[in-house]
Amino acid sequence: MKKALLLLVASLIATAATAQLKPRPDAFPPQPESNAAKAVSMATTPAQMAGWDRYPTYSTYVAMMQQWAADFPTLCRLDTIGTSVNGRLILSMELTANPSDTSLPQFFYSSTIHGDEVTGYVLMLRLIDTLLRGYGTNPQYTSLMNTTLICINPLANPDGTYRYGNNSVQYSTRYNANNVDLNRNYPNPFAVAKAALQPENAAMIAYFDRHRFRLSANLHGGSEVLNYPWDSFTSLQRPHPEASWWQAVCQRFMDTLRTVSTTHFTDVNSQGYIAGGDWYVITGGRQDYFNYYYNCLELTMEVSSVKTLSSDQLPTYWNFLQRPLVNYIAEIHSLPGSDTVPDTTLAVRSAAATPVHIYPNPAVSTLHLTPTTAPVTVSDIRGRELLVLPQGTTAIDVSHLPAGLYILRSGDYTAKFLVRRQ
Ligand SMILES: [Zn+2]
Repeated sequence: MKKALLLLVASLIATAATAQLKPRPDAFPPQPESNAAKAVSMATTPAQMAGWDRYPTYSTYVAMMQQWAADFPTLCRLDTIGTSVNGRLILSMELTANPSDTSLPQFFYSSTIHGDEVTGYVLMLRLIDTLLRGYGTNPQYTSLMNTTLICINPLANPDGTYRYGNNSVQYSTRYNANNVDLNRNYPNPFAVAKAALQPENAAMIAYFDRHRFRLSANLHGGSEVLNYPWDSFTSLQRPHPEASWWQAVCQRFMDTLRTVSTTHFTDVNSQGYIAGGDWYVITGGRQDYFNYYYNCLELTMEVSSVKTLSSDQLPTYWNFLQRPLVNYIAEIHSLPGSDTVPDTTLAVRSAAATPVHIYPNPAVSTLHLTPTTAPVTVSDIRGRELLVLPQGTTAIDVSHLPAGLYILRSGDYTAKFLVRRQ
């Protein structure tokens, strides 16, 4: 009886809390915004970006990235993550003053996986410019670039942003050129994937394979809130193993932001952050994928209530987000627990699971594993189950598998491994 009463009270509280929440812009069906009446000014040359109150055309964007690489060759290099369905570039600027030091912690910012959520796109461009020009004069930027590899991908979905041509973001769209929502398209750690992995996401996964990012953030728009993992569950169903660390990081971000703005980042709740699933459960998002499979602590930042800001509002958003965005990079030097060493075994974070050690990795013919206490399954990166093996399995014949990345599950434990072909 008492338990039933408590459950009733808990459900009433949960209902009340839910009722106050703004619907997640990522919820289905997502609500498009009409940009027809907005003042969206475009910069057709890098010089026109000087006031940071315009959106770049696609060619201006590429020219800016190339110009920084040319102007600051000792502080950055331009890398190509991949190409979109329509052949546009997915670029990453890699900033550090110590490129030869391969032991540096690696940080990653990425924006605009939803092509119409473009505020973060300009914020990331301005962040690159600010870090490069501040090196040697601003002590914080100098220290960060001496001690960290900072990789910044301003535009993850260029086909969505430039949906109707390279010269305007006015009619940008959420989806890629195949009309797929890229933030529902990542293999789900907790369920079989439904759609074919899109080229933009496959390229991003390969980019993560070439790095060992430990902290990252993915910038969206449509609300103003920090959204920490998991997205696939409520915090009661399955809390993130580092939930208390996430809450402390989000609180520090908001403390810094509040020194400049007391009104922004209040449209979901007053504290400005939330566990993703407590806001709205989604699956197939990038955040859970990289947290789960890559041991990379990725945060979702919803940075503006309006997806496509009038361009004259962009400097206002930079004004209150600049310091929190830079400070978030520095959080890589305060990662939780002792688990600050990059995970070179490709094993993944999995709460309360018995580890299964797998070797060699990459494998060519046989993958060995320590005795398992549950049946073993092997899936490809699209989530298709390829092999089912009994409990106690200690060797798997992988000689017939094509080269690529595979996911091994045994009970609650998940690991990924590579098959290599000469
Ligand atoms: Zn979004």
